[in-house]
Amino acid sequence: MSNESEIRSESLDFIREIVTEDLKNNKNDGKIVTRFPPEPNGYLHIGHAKAICLDFGVAAEYGGICNLRMDDTNPTKEDTEYVDSIVNDVRWLGFEPAALYYASDYFDKMYECAVELIKRGKAYICTLSNEEWEEYKGNVNTPGKDSPGRARSIEENLDLFARMRDGEFEDGAMVLRAKIDMAHPNIHMRDPVIYRIRRVEHFRHGNKYCIYPMYDFAHPLEDAIEGVTHSFCTLEFEIHRPLYDWFLEAIDFPHRPRQIEFSRLNIGYTVMSKRKLMQLVKENHVSGWDDPRMPTVCGLRRRGVPAAAIRKMCKTVGITKVESIISPGVLENCTREILNAEASRYMAVLDPLKVTITNFPENGVEPLDAVNNPEDPAAGSRKISFGKTLYIDRADFMMEPPKGYFRLAPGAEVRLRYGYFIRCVDVVKDANGEVCEVLCTFDPETRGGNAPDGRKVKGTIHWVNAEDCIKAEVRLYEQLFTAEKPGEDGVDFLTQLNPDSLKVVNGYLERALDEVKVGDVVQFERVGYFACDQDSTAERKVFNRTVTLKDSWAKKK
Ligand code: ATP
Ligand code: MG
Repeated sequence: MSNESEIRSESLDFIREIVTEDLKNNKNDGKIVTRFPPEPNGYLHIGHAKAICLDFGVAAEYGGICNLRMDDTNPTKEDTEYVDSIVNDVRWLGFEPAALYYASDYFDKMYECAVELIKRGKAYICTLSNEEWEEYKGNVNTPGKDSPGRARSIEENLDLFARMRDGEFEDGAMVLRAKIDMAHPNIHMRDPVIYRIRRVEHFRHGNKYCIYPMYDFAHPLEDAIEGVTHSFCTLEFEIHRPLYDWFLEAIDFPHRPRQIEFSRLNIGYTVMSKRKLMQLVKENHVSGWDDPRMPTVCGLRRRGVPAAAIRKMCKTVGITKVESIISPGVLENCTREILNAEASRYMAVLDPLKVTITNFPENGVEPLDAVNNPEDPAAGSRKISFGKTLYIDRADFMMEPPKGYFRLAPGAEVRLRYGYFIRCVDVVKDANGEVCEVLCTFDPETRGGNAPDGRKVKGTIHWVNAEDCIKAEVRLYEQLFTAEKPGEDGVDFLTQLNPDSLKVVNGYLERALDEVKVGDVVQFERVGYFACDQDSTAERKVFNRTVTLKDSWAKKK
């Protein structure tokens, strides 16, 4: 983490309070070890970023370490493609893992732990089918019934488990269960499955294993093996915590990590489950995991959202145990704050209206000075060219302006940014009666934006020189969904996709934007922040709108 103060909260959240207390009591010999444990079955999303900021943030703030661990114990949907993207995204977010681990590397150790449980009479082979188990396990009101497997001898369990591992039985023929309590009020404690038979190829271990451990058994062991002291996870695991502790106790593991749960990040008008994100990709509702409308880390990066804005949002939202749904405006505001300080300004017209300066010489060109970033003097300045034919934004001209409209209108005078005052003297209309060209005069005395006679204009508008601009594809994004909670109340979330989430327009951009590189984020003055997209070619640039300049959520609420 580059900047510690950026992530240190002013007042401690409940997790940092626990960590502070543990350090004070010299728990774990004063060591802090955390981990971020994604399952490599999809790309990281902004919810994961919250967990990453917590896991890596706590380690950095308290002089500890944080590992990145691929939780690859469920091979059906896992792949190296996801591993690579996760490693890349974590680094891009600004964090360097102390080590990269794979849970699957502990499979042999986990097997030994399961054998140990059997030897201690705390695990048994159960041959009940899934349907039978449904009946045996009972429900919240009814205690469960003992599986016949509970009566099996340790020797027989050891023998069967070894043969399970050696591939003697069909998938689903039997499982290894923890022997806990079939009447436990917490259903997760009613003899949960530890190992199951599953003949699937693992992306790292091929067909070496035909039995795989269950999450609830594997996760505490992974944490314990790595010496994790504080294991942070989201609230849905709270009910699994007794089991987490039970396994470590039952095996008598020398190191005891502590699981602490916090509420997950939910953002309105998007979805955050990997399954749903996968569906959006597979069914081509978006162009890929990195579609700039996706809440994935790679999507946000492509959209132009800086990593610092994501970290800032996570800090703003904070760590609590209260479930809530936050407005997309929170990330947008953080993005604006960061980009306002960093992004160079340029002029671009996305909805062009031609302006002819009648008193400017034919083919004349006038270089003007433009400031690159008023927030950053070191960013310097550049030249932009003024000419006889310009484009302005259609919204900056009105035939019959309402009161308080300070932009261009018949007879009115307006300031061109970095340029001159111009006055509208006439308009040209097309066959439909629409204004297609505005005729103006410019006042040469007002170069740089001020009149020597002290005459004032209230409006300043942006523009480009029609003879010296580049054309670009500009992608304007809106929220992916029209519903705040897509899929709520049993609605198919796909029916709530926003049909207008992407609008593509032709932009007229000042020539200097030709120099911008893929990934650069700039401000189009008065319009918004835009990122140069990877689809750009030497002939034609493509820009993604990262965010508009104004908060549109504030007024919606
Ligand atoms: P999904 O439900 O989208 O598939 P997951 O929880 O299964 O997500 P994992 O790869 O297991 O995905 O998540 C890795 C870590 O990130 C876990 O510790 C998990 O608790 C955390 N995490 C996932 N989603 C969020 C979220 N929305 N907010 C905060 N933390 C999250
Ligand atoms: Mg998970």
